Amino acid sequence: MTGKGNWTWLIRGRVTTLIDAGTGEPGHLDALDRALDGETLVQVLVTHSHTDHASGASALLARMPHVQFKKLPWPERDARWPAPWTAIGDGDRIEVGDTSLVAIHTPGHAPDHLCFWHEETGTVFGGDLAVLGTTVWIPVSLQGDLTAYLRSLERILALNPRRMLPAHGAIIDEPVALLREYIQHRQEREQQVIDALRRGDTTPEAIVQRVYKNLNETMQKLAAESVLAHLVKLEHEARARRDGDAWHIIDP
Ligand SMILES: [Zn+2]
Repeated sequence: MTGKGNWTWLIRGRVTTLIDAGTGEPGHLDALDRALDGETLVQVLVTHSHTDHASGASALLARMPHVQFKKLPWPERDARWPAPWTAIGDGDRIEVGDTSLVAIHTPGHAPDHLCFWHEETGTVFGGDLAVLGTTVWIPVSLQGDLTAYLRSLERILALNPRRMLPAHGAIIDEPVALLREYIQHRQEREQQVIDALRRGDTTPEAIVQRVYKNLNETMQKLAAESVLAHLVKLEHEARARRDGDAWHIIDP
């Protein structure tokens, strides 16, 4: 799920800051030491509480007990990663390096997801909002929410960012184009889900069989969760309803 792993971003300066905690792998901590080159890490801003972004907090804390850890709270989930978390939230301006970043609440992939925005350079630290070359997983079972995700895409799009530094994959040099593609892709997928319901498919699995071609078993499960995210969105909009495990279209 994490591709080749995940990035953490180090911003050196007056308030040396790491964006995302990683997983506490010794190799990452050693690389961080080298990158710090004798400077003191002041704080870690965590984009969201998924394992690959937050689980490294305790290992970091063990090496650097003075570091502050900041994220938007998701109490049930944050309890897994024992560290003294300081709450930050939407619109907070946070001193970082020799400048400041603004936290932007961008739920959807996870309820606590934050992007960090640097207006002067048009740079957004995107966390898991977007990954070049693929789409982002919306895990309904982990409070993923497609409606919220689409709103978050629109919100970042409205900032007209020039560059996105993601947590996975290559740097995104044309974030506006990518975010527009993402929105369009979800609109197309939604129409496919609606068409499948109209043809009488009633489960995410059946819809996957119709809409996606040639998926292996693991990918089918992920695709079913993605279809479920669409169904839940349609349900919120009173365009679909569920009877037990069976989904139906509500035609106007
Ligand atoms: Zn994630």
